[in-house]
Amino acid sequence: MKQTSNTFLDNAHVALQDADKAQRRDIMALFTPLVRNAAMESFGHFEALRAHVKQVKQHSLEHLDHYLARFEQEALHNGNHVHFAADGEQMNSIVLEICQQHSARHVAKGKSMVTEETGLNDYLKRAGIRVMETDLGEYIIQQAGETPSHIVGPALHKSAAEVRDLFLAKHDLGDRELAETSDMVREAREVLREHFLKAEVGIIGANALIAENGYSMLVTNEGNGDLCANLPNVLIVCTTIDRVLPRAEDATATLRLLVRSATGQAQTCYTSFYSGPRREQDIDGPLETHIVLLDNRRSEILASDYKEMLQCIRCGACLNHCPIYAGVGGHAYGWVYPGPMGSILTPLLTSLEQSNALPNACTTCGRCAEVCPADIPLPDLLRDLRHEESERKLSPARWRLGLQLHAWLACHPRLYRALTGLGIFILYLLGRRKGSFKHLPLAAGWTSERDFPAPAGKTFMQQYAAQQRADKTREHKQATPVKRAPKPGRVSGRGTPVGRGSSGRTSAGRTSAGRIEPSMGEGWQHEAGPASPGTIRDSGKISGGSKDSGGKAAAKKPKAHPGGPRGKKPRRRKDHD
Ligand code: SF4
Repeated sequence: MKQTSNTFLDNAHVALQDADKAQRRDIMALFTPLVRNAAMESFGHFEALRAHVKQVKQHSLEHLDHYLARFEQEALHNGNHVHFAADGEQMNSIVLEICQQHSARHVAKGKSMVTEETGLNDYLKRAGIRVMETDLGEYIIQQAGETPSHIVGPALHKSAAEVRDLFLAKHDLGDRELAETSDMVREAREVLREHFLKAEVGIIGANALIAENGYSMLVTNEGNGDLCANLPNVLIVCTTIDRVLPRAEDATATLRLLVRSATGQAQTCYTSFYSGPRREQDIDGPLETHIVLLDNRRSEILASDYKEMLQCIRCGACLNHCPIYAGVGGHAYGWVYPGPMGSILTPLLTSLEQSNALPNACTTCGRCAEVCPADIPLPDLLRDLRHEESERKLSPARWRLGLQLHAWLACHPRLYRALTGLGIFILYLLGRRKGSFKHLPLAAGWTSERDFPAPAGKTFMQQYAAQQRADKTREHKQATPVKRAPKPGRVSGRGTPVGRGSSGRTSAGRTSAGRIEPSMGEGWQHEAGPASPGTIRDSGKISGGSKDSGGKAAAKKPKAHPGGPRGKKPRRRKDHD
């Protein structure tokens, strides 16, 4: 796949001109978070399971050599062939060699972002092998000669009308209407069925590899993965080294978050575990199975400050919640992985020189980190890439100078506030009549696409300080009568009023505001295994634990941290940009 990440700004500009696609992206940006949030709410264990999944992924990555060796041993024991590929070229040549050994002319392929990364389809095509994508979204974009725009829904950028026209043009099936989406799905199914039966080799990806038994796990909603795996005589699983997990229950725990985060479903339609070739007692299945494990710089990432990125389980939630992705779509990112995860993976898997615009596209709003089921600090990693870009002098000199000036000013708060206060006041005076600016010097990037709203006259810091003063005055007034006449049960401590600024905790585990503090729910350990105490919190269920412990341990409140939405500590601070 030709990479165009270095022209991200031009790509984005082009994407913004397409009103139809922009409208569809807007709808997706509203819809996908809604279904994900509804699924998480009804599940009720998001934070707890996220902490568990993070722990499992970190443990697996820290002991990757051990678990890879164990997986290889078990997979070989099951009758598989296991191959390690250092880069995309090597993976492609391994797959081609297997196909040639079996004189394969047709390959049925399930959805696999790894093979997009290595450009496998084109590689096999050049060797005269016809590869047919069998995931509906992948099939649509293959027919259209396009690349995926989303890691879960590759054809999300296509409208039903576009797909209809595409099928009418590509399928030589005579006159027909294809008026309904279901007609198109039926037609794609019929066309694909023929290819499944023709294919000598099937290629699929894997959502997880299980070290304890050598199985690979795959989830799909269409069942095409199982047809690719079971109908052809040869199966090739193309995946990466970071997919390996210690136990089957770790894979299923990951699955609970993966599916809810990706599509808002409680479970995908098909969850399959592949052990190896057909055994004597099996009625179907491949006669020969290969597992190809790609590194492609992942070992380098593991040894770097960006290793948390390898925790990614490819759910796509960060894309669905990213305002930049919603604005410009996946193709603007110019390579396989779009959105926040792609803005980190692309520079790491290709080069920062080729893709330094991507980390700079982020507004650091933090939505991606809030929803990421693997708890990856995506905005921090993006900031680190920006820092690296600046250190390696990849950004223009005037941009670096501007940032240095900003950093210097930020280290002198009085001067910073005075200058920003003055600037905001001048903008307020100039723009108060019209309410916005169509052009602004030094902000052409903004005003070329949208108007710049005229400021309200005061900076955020000025408004915040005024609000703080008003709050203090009000609290002081409210506190005075309480001190004079304290009522039993309405105060906590000697004369300390209940309300803002007071710990106000009662023995029943309630805060002064009457809110019930979160704690672990019953049955959790049964579902996803033990997790370290103190790191897991439920999303608001009351457990018997709070009674047993007098409501203190279970009701311990996390400290808020100004730098993160979940009150987490910054991973490492470099005080840049
Ligand atoms: S970075 Fe997190 S939210 Fe984004 S795809 Fe990976 S696991 Fe999902």
